[in-house]
Amino acid sequence: MTGKIHILRSDLANKIAAGEVVQRPASAIKELIENSLDAGAASVFVRIEDAGKTVIQVVDDGEGMSEEDATMAFRRHATSKISVPEDLENIQTLGFRGEALASIGAVSQVELKTRTAHEDVGTLVRVEGDEIKEATRIACDRGTSVTVRNLFYNTPARRNFLKSQQTERKQATDVVTRMALAYPNVSWKYESDGEIMLNLARTSFEGRVQDIVGKKAFDQLVPVRETTEYVSIDGFIGRPDFARRNRTDQFLFLNGRFIVNRAINHAVFQAYEHLLIKGSFPFFILRLRVDPRQIDVNVHPSKLEVKFENESNLYRFVLSVIRRTLATHDLVPSVEMADAESGAMNARLRFGGQAPDPMAIPGQIDLDQLFRRARPLQEGVAVNSFGPIVRREPAERIVPQEAEHSAAQDGRAIWQVHNKYILSQIKTGIMIVDQHVAHERILYERAIASFENNLPASQQLLFPQTVELTPGDSALVRDLLPHLETLGFVLKPFGRNTVVIEGIPADVRVGSERKILQDLLDEYRNNEHHATVDARDNLAKSFACKAAIKAGDRLSVQEMIGLIDQLFLTTMPYVCPHGRPVVVKISLEELDKRFGRT
Ligand code: ADP
Ligand code: MG
Repeated sequence: MTGKIHILRSDLANKIAAGEVVQRPASAIKELIENSLDAGAASVFVRIEDAGKTVIQVVDDGEGMSEEDATMAFRRHATSKISVPEDLENIQTLGFRGEALASIGAVSQVELKTRTAHEDVGTLVRVEGDEIKEATRIACDRGTSVTVRNLFYNTPARRNFLKSQQTERKQATDVVTRMALAYPNVSWKYESDGEIMLNLARTSFEGRVQDIVGKKAFDQLVPVRETTEYVSIDGFIGRPDFARRNRTDQFLFLNGRFIVNRAINHAVFQAYEHLLIKGSFPFFILRLRVDPRQIDVNVHPSKLEVKFENESNLYRFVLSVIRRTLATHDLVPSVEMADAESGAMNARLRFGGQAPDPMAIPGQIDLDQLFRRARPLQEGVAVNSFGPIVRREPAERIVPQEAEHSAAQDGRAIWQVHNKYILSQIKTGIMIVDQHVAHERILYERAIASFENNLPASQQLLFPQTVELTPGDSALVRDLLPHLETLGFVLKPFGRNTVVIEGIPADVRVGSERKILQDLLDEYRNNEHHATVDARDNLAKSFACKAAIKAGDRLSVQEMIGLIDQLFLTTMPYVCPHGRPVVVKISLEELDKRFGRT
């Protein structure tokens, strides 16, 4: 008796393998375009009919193929792009698996016309269901034209699996759009059922982004750029109110390849923390460049996913670049007053559309000047390296003379209203700051910085304070002791449930240290239920919340100026660590409108 196992016939094997590479018309289009780009095309023409189900044609003016190569190209694992295993570690082309043409040829009727620059005649190859039906010499333009007819004609299951015409067409359009974004120096033409969908001349990256998103949307974007030795990023991100309801407007390119990467997407999303309305997603078009040796694109046949050697570093890099970009642009929420009918304030936040104006925000001040103002508050107090320290008592010490001077020179008009809000005139209108959350943001960032630099800034108490704690709190203090010390607390356990406070963070007002410690522990407990927060972040938030000046605290002019100056030195001045807005801006235009001065 003969065995039951046999090797699959190659046409059958190819049909099976085709399913991985070519799932739908859009995946065939993607593979064909990648081939055109790898061939150095300067212009690419894509045509589909019936959402790509009956016809897909991709024409390029790239290097073309010889007659021999043109038939060879349809064999599985036939490629000109890599040859030795080491090449796989350093992939510089979009394709490399040698599977696309074989896969497409196995499940459709393909006609390939191609000619190289140094040949006068070209080659025509006709393939149908994995069989070469014809190979002849013909006259044709330099470059390559591949026409794919009746995709999945011999795999009805696949064909039936396709989604609606509309969905498949959208997928196809998405592929061409991504490619056009990634390759602005190539001209693109894209036609669907005879209708021209895209017709793009070669241009700069910026020009291409504008072509794709439109002029109006482009004005809502902010440029991003950063280069380090290992990685570079550039592109555009949307202002927070330009956010989307879904993730379709998120374009991430890695070394010229559109990729999907949850970690990086999340890093961008995270950078927008609290700036987005719940359930919305930031718009972005970002290009990352890293050494090909640091990545593995051979994870999936579609090459959509990529493995990074050091994903967590990349995550932090993207997070900090996007955060900084958002912080340095004028994203102050401004209030749009309600229309006459409703009479109520419209809570919708709008973000200034103009370029950042250094004079518009009082916080955009001379850093040197700020550091000159920072000086020891009293003997033995560590100088906080992050700038002057806002304190309530005594007011004169907070911002020494020259600040008062410069405030007067700046002609800054600033008032405290209801001991709660700071109202100030800015170039574009007025700005209202919530004093508690503003201070909270400042203290939070200092706390995080202390953790990161491990440089506690503390002040020695003249009269150490003894605090009785519950057994639970006492245990918590012991757990958190190293972190509390980094924050600037100097705590000495004394007996079972007693602790002596010998020093407190430099920013905490003397006199309320007991209460602050107690409140901080309570707050820490409350936050602990949120599974996501880590101990240090929780501690920083709790500390900031409890040590910050409160609504009801009176502030002097110098204190208000100090507070606002420091607020705008934080990375995210517009939202407090809990996500509440810190600043509200009302533009002159808005005021003019309200007073009928139009
Ligand atoms: P891969 O791109 O992974 O090498 P493909 O099956 O997509 O595999 O293509 C096989 C080979 O055919 C390529 O390596 C390339 O040499 C050649 N080829 C395919 N398309 C083109 C094209 N548009 N222009 C020039 N050469 C092409
Ligand atoms: Mg290819």
